[in-house]
Amino acid sequence: MDSNNKNLPRGVELLNNPRLNKGTAFTPAERDALGIRGLIPPRAIHIEEQHDLVYGHYSYKRTDLDKYIYLMGLQDRNETLFYYLLTRHLDEMMPIVYTPTVGLACQKYSRIFRRPRGLIVSLDDRGRVDELLSNWPYQDIRIIVVTDGERILGLGDLGLNGLGIPVGKLSLYVAAAGIDPRLTLPVCLDVGTNNEELRNDPLYLGLGRSRERGAAYDALVDEFVSAVQKRWPRCLIQFEDFGNTNAFRLLAQYRDTGPVFNDDMQGTGAVAFAGLLGALRITGLSLTDQRIVFLGAGEAAVGISEAIINGLRDEGLSDAEARQRFWLVDSKGLVTRDRLDSLAEHKRPFARDEAPAATLLEVVERVQPTALLGVSGQPGLFTQAVIEMMAAHVERPIIFALSNPTSRAECTAEQAYTWTDGRAIFASGSPFDPVTLNGREYRPGQGNNAYIFPGVGLGALVSGAKRITDTMFHVAAKELADTVPDSLLKVGTIFPPMDDIHKVSMQLAAAVAREVYRLDLHSRPLPDDMEAEIEAFIWQAEYRSLV
Ligand code: NAD
Repeated sequence: MDSNNKNLPRGVELLNNPRLNKGTAFTPAERDALGIRGLIPPRAIHIEEQHDLVYGHYSYKRTDLDKYIYLMGLQDRNETLFYYLLTRHLDEMMPIVYTPTVGLACQKYSRIFRRPRGLIVSLDDRGRVDELLSNWPYQDIRIIVVTDGERILGLGDLGLNGLGIPVGKLSLYVAAAGIDPRLTLPVCLDVGTNNEELRNDPLYLGLGRSRERGAAYDALVDEFVSAVQKRWPRCLIQFEDFGNTNAFRLLAQYRDTGPVFNDDMQGTGAVAFAGLLGALRITGLSLTDQRIVFLGAGEAAVGISEAIINGLRDEGLSDAEARQRFWLVDSKGLVTRDRLDSLAEHKRPFARDEAPAATLLEVVERVQPTALLGVSGQPGLFTQAVIEMMAAHVERPIIFALSNPTSRAECTAEQAYTWTDGRAIFASGSPFDPVTLNGREYRPGQGNNAYIFPGVGLGALVSGAKRITDTMFHVAAKELADTVPDSLLKVGTIFPPMDDIHKVSMQLAAAVAREVYRLDLHSRPLPDDMEAEIEAFIWQAEYRSLV
């Protein structure tokens, strides 16, 4: 694609361009034509040899944060090699480029900062957002992941430091779904932070003011979305890790203006729904038999509930009947109608008409749930008493401790299996190692959104989706649940192996694209062969000839 391109940088400038740099792999012809002979060692080696070298460097790093810093350094110098490495070791490296290590990296962003990556749009840039977009070196952008840093994983307000999340998620789009990295743009809206510790840190690189809540915030978001939609009308905008006060209303405001979605709600909803469908393949029970208790009543809880409600509607239940299957518990106890006056808008549709209950244990005792989902961001709240109470009433308790990073999980995999005598069907947000109990090995699943969003994004891009609907996530979830082989279900794993994620993303993309065409929301013609169309779209991490 780049051959005969007279605008290619030359010499040191070429070597310093991570998108074009091949390190020592430039051919003799490229060295001559592009003025780099003598600037790199004479022997040209292949990408496979480079891979072995950098994988060795990576493996030599002792801490996960060191590994993260190493990988970011590689991405900054040679993007092709970075993705070549990442795609070959995605299972191993996913917890480094994404949760849990990315959480630590965000907390330390200002201290491990080396080179800028992504676009930072701050409150001071109001009125100039389009100019900032024009500064980005690539001008065919198809996917943006944007955060305002307010609710980073379960770690709270990290302000500008949250930029690591869009960077990580977009690298997963590339590694899992083969999206060309040049089509992606990570963005952080820096609107201040209420994190005192950060504001008092002399090395914090973001705006040192409190978080903007008023009209100036809305104006900045609106200017950003409008500028993106004007410049790149079909660009997917993925809202990521916004706080409750903004996430729900921003999705409602923008979802019909273009291809816009919120991964914390819709992506999480789909992946957890798929996990539940996988668990039901093990228990043999139906979706309508479920009594589902959530710890946490925020974006993830609402997103997951809505996804399951869509599934229950498929089974013939009315909306009201479906909502009867859910009990949401927040920091003040069970969400009930007598709390209606003080309940946040997003919790109201789930307020139950029953007696209050102050604790999770009380709720579990009363409801005897078949499924218990932790999305509170608070560690350890699935206590032994709670899990044992649940296990006393159901044969195969479905327990998802989804809070991220690992340090925030409501319980560990080992606790879930131990306290249920190995009967739990367990999944978590961040990965846990296999557990051996009474001579049997259990392999916990990871309800990672990376199973969903890359496939949805790819399906949307291939079809040129004008909107992103809940039904697209619904078909993606069902497709994902179907990809889990019986052999894995037998050891309690309800998600496919991470190593299969590329294949899974292709499958999901085809299903999502078909849904886009079914809904008549496409802007590209319907291909004769969807799979071939997707295959042709994807980017491979390999060097292209520059001469
Ligand atoms: P959120 O801030 O929107 O919601 C958190 C909820 O937890 C709020 O309703 C809050 O009231 C409640 N809460 C806080 N303390 C509590 C307590 N002591 N007891 C009961 N409830 C309490 O956040 P979110 O977007 O819903 O995310 C929550 C967690 O889920 C995060 O840790 C996030 O990383 C994780 N998550 C995991 C996945 C995944 O595994 N795929 C996806 C999305 C989010």
